Amino acid sequence: MNCKTCEYPLWNLATRQCPECGAPFKPSDFEFALNAVRFCCLQCRQPYYGTGGKGHLVPLAFACVRCGASCDMDSMILLPTEGVKESQTKADEMPWLVRAKTGRLKAWFATMGRAMADPGRLIELVPENRSASEAIWYAVITNMVFLTTSLCVFFLPGMFLPMLRGASTGVRIAFTVAGAGALLILLPLVVVLLWGALSHLVLHVTGGTKQPIARTFHAIGYSAGTNVLLGIPCVFFLAPIVIIWWVITAGIMLHRVHSLRAWRSVTAVAVPPLLLITASAGLIFLTVSSSRSARLARARAVVAGGATNSTVSTNLGTLAGALAASQPRTPADWPEHGLLLLAEQNVLPAHFFAPGSSNSQLTAELTIETIALMDTSQLRAVGKHAAALLPPRVIAHRVGDMVFTYHGFNPGGADAADFWVLVEAPEDAAENSPVRVVRTDGVPYLVTAPSWTQAVEEQNALRISLDLPPIPDPRRVTYREPAVAP
Ligand SMILES: [Zn+2]
Ligand SMILES: [Zn+2]
Repeated sequence: MNCKTCEYPLWNLATRQCPECGAPFKPSDFEFALNAVRFCCLQCRQPYYGTGGKGHLVPLAFACVRCGASCDMDSMILLPTEGVKESQTKADEMPWLVRAKTGRLKAWFATMGRAMADPGRLIELVPENRSASEAIWYAVITNMVFLTTSLCVFFLPGMFLPMLRGASTGVRIAFTVAGAGALLILLPLVVVLLWGALSHLVLHVTGGTKQPIARTFHAIGYSAGTNVLLGIPCVFFLAPIVIIWWVITAGIMLHRVHSLRAWRSVTAVAVPPLLLITASAGLIFLTVSSSRSARLARARAVVAGGATNSTVSTNLGTLAGALAASQPRTPADWPEHGLLLLAEQNVLPAHFFAPGSSNSQLTAELTIETIALMDTSQLRAVGKHAAALLPPRVIAHRVGDMVFTYHGFNPGGADAADFWVLVEAPEDAAENSPVRVVRTDGVPYLVTAPSWTQAVEEQNALRISLDLPPIPDPRRVTYREPAVAP
């Protein structure tokens, strides 16, 4: 028990003023280790031992058992218990909360050590009225230190960011440090805030708690010292152990501060990390696959749209979907050759044929059989080769039963929804059979035989209005003779 002003020891005094500096004091302003201090009767010096909370007397006022004088803890003479050193009378303290006295570094290491050795006792030492933000910042700083040592080797390449090309070394270093710093503070801060808030929400939902949310943040925050393994550079495989250890420690602390049943502590503390991990994994997965899934979804939508019309061939729908999925925006974006669609997801050689077709000839050189066993890169090579064989002024070319008529068309240009990009036109089809065409909206539709000639004429009128040469009847476009501009 030292004077709070001048550190002078205040043992064995009947006065309530510091002999050194004159500051008044009360024993009840101090905390002592249990039984470490004897409080002596002013009259007869009968000792009483501090067995209550904070090492105080219970009760605080009573009649002396020996002399009968009325004793009051704050007026008694204090001495260390026999055999107890002065330094041992101090109450157990939460190291981080007394950092002003011990120094931050020492307090930080001590808090970390105690979180690992005895988390329950450590959190008991945090008074209920301490702020949540203090615990949050402890966790942020602690994780920041560990993350920094763990990731420092990865920050160096940041200095060579392309955007910094030409900048001076000083600017590069400043940029790297600022960027890394922001990340290293923000990441732990977001994690701790989310975790604490969600844990408290879980407690609320599973039966509530009388303790304020600050208590939950104490548990989450002061358990962060167990992340010390994270501080080992590059040892990322330890990350799962670190996370599990932190969760367990936080659970023990939560259990202690809220006096919960075990299953509630476990649920409250484990659900948020599971959610966070699932959410971030999901986010990464979505980011990676979004463009692909969006394309697939569009392709499927086109097929589904076509399927509502029973007269529409699903093969044509699949090709239309693959074309739409390649997202052409300029005339140059169309596949150089229809065969290149084979390199797309979901497109099979059989899709280039009308339903029920006995044809298996894809191009003049290729049949379904010759390409059946090719992998994607071989199929792409075959497609490129076929594209190279097309005449320079090609306006329509055939693959299997399909004739591609998109050459030169600007999909990003003026509204031309009726433009044909693809026609299902088997070479050997009967004159009176209907023809299926795909327009720019990706939806296949059917043209009946009587209106076919007129449909081709209208299509050519549209093409001329778009500055494109007219096409012959797509059924007359052969493997060997793609249609060319006149
Ligand atoms: Zn003093
Ligand atoms: Zn007495």
